[in-house]
Amino acid sequence: MNQMGRIYKIVILPGDGIGREVIPEVRRVIEDAIVTVDEIALEIHEFECGGDYFLKTGREWSEQAEYFTRTKADAILLGGIGAKGLDGKTVRRPDGNLAGYSIVVGLRQELELFANVRPVKLYEGVPTPLADKKPEDIDMVIVRENTEGLYYPARGRIKRPDKDFAYDLRLITARGSERVARFAFEHAKERTGAPIDNVKRVTCVDKSNLLAGCQLFRESFDKVGKEFKEITRDYAYVDAWTLMVLRKPEYYDVVVTTNAFGDIISDLGGALQGGLGVSPSGNIGIERAMFEPVHGSAPDIAGTGKANPIAALLSAAMMFEWLSKKYNDKIPLGCAKRIRESIEEVLREGKIRTMDLCLGRWSKVKPSTTKQVTNEIIRKMG
Ligand code: ATP
Repeated sequence: MNQMGRIYKIVILPGDGIGREVIPEVRRVIEDAIVTVDEIALEIHEFECGGDYFLKTGREWSEQAEYFTRTKADAILLGGIGAKGLDGKTVRRPDGNLAGYSIVVGLRQELELFANVRPVKLYEGVPTPLADKKPEDIDMVIVRENTEGLYYPARGRIKRPDKDFAYDLRLITARGSERVARFAFEHAKERTGAPIDNVKRVTCVDKSNLLAGCQLFRESFDKVGKEFKEITRDYAYVDAWTLMVLRKPEYYDVVVTTNAFGDIISDLGGALQGGLGVSPSGNIGIERAMFEPVHGSAPDIAGTGKANPIAALLSAAMMFEWLSKKYNDKIPLGCAKRIRESIEEVLREGKIRTMDLCLGRWSKVKPSTTKQVTNEIIRKMG
C-alpha cells in the first residue's frame, strides 16, 4: 500500500494483433521493475477483448471485463483493437462497427474521456523525416477533443432510387469545447513552454473562417484562455498549421483542436517524432483515464516480433504520471521517470532497436525483437 493507502487498480486490455505482443512487455516492465523497486501498490486485472475474442465468443469482451473496467478501474491500458477473420476481412459486429468498437471508442464516450493527449517529442536516437530538426526542436503536446465533433455518433445514409447520400453531424458544444480548452491551458501551465522561446503557448487549431462549430470552439478557447494570464493564446487554421508545423515545429508548445482535425494532425505529429512505434497517447477524463499506443493492431507485422514496444511503454509512463497527479502521490511519478529514463538511454545508445527505427543514421543497425528491446529497457532500470 502506498503513502495514500491506495492500491491502484489497473486494467490491462491487450486486444488484438501486436497489442498482444507489446502489452505483455509493458506488464513485464511493470511487474519486474516497477512493483519490486518502486514499491508501488497496484493490482493488475487483465482481460481478453477485441476482434479475435469476438470471433471466439460473439462478445467484444466478457461481462466481468466490461463491468470491472467501467466501474472499478483507476486506469486502463489498452493495446490495439482490430482482427481479421478467415476470409481476410476485418471482423465486424452485426451493426457494421469494428469488433472491439465498444472498447476503443465506446469507453471514451461512456467514461467521458474528453481529452485525447498526444505528446509529440523527438527523442535522441530516433530518426525524424525533418532533415534539419533535432530533439531540442520537437516537443509539443496535441490535445484533441475526444467525445464530440465529426466523430459524434450521429450519422446516416439515405439511399433511395432518386438520391443516395450520407451525412455525419458535427456536433460541437460550448461545454465540450471549454473543458478541453481548460485541460490544454492547465497542461501548458505544467510545461516549460515552446522549444523556440520557452513561451508557454496554447495554439487553437480550427477552421473558424468557415465552420460554425469551429467558431464556437475558438470562442470557448478565448473565454477559458482569459483566465490563464501567464499563457499566450495563439491561433491557426488547420490547413495552414500542417504547413507551419513542418517548417517550424519548435514554435509549438500545446495545441488544442476538435476531434477529427485532432485525429489527422496528431498522426502528422506522430510522423515527426519517429512514427507509430514511439507514439503514446492518453484519453483523459475527470475521474478515469485510458492509455494506449497510437498504433492499432498492425496485422501486417503481428506475430513476427517486429513490433516496437516503446509506444506502449511510454503510454504506461503517461498512466503513472496521471495517477500521480490525480491522487497527489509521488510514487507513480517515480515509476514514470524510471520507465522514461531507461527508454531514453536505450534510444540514445542506438544499438538495440526494432526495425521501424533502423533508418537514416541507424540503417546499418541489426533490428532487435520486441522482447530484446524490453529486456534492454528492464536491464537499464537496474
Ligand atoms: P488498425 O486497423 O488496428 O489500426 P493498421 O495496421 O491499419 O491496424 P496500425 O496498427 O496503426 O494500423 O499500423 C500501421 C502500420 O504501422 C503497421 O502496418 C505497421 O507496419 C506499422 N506499425 C504500427 N505500430 C508499430 C509498432 N509498434 N512497431 C513497428 N511498426 C508499427
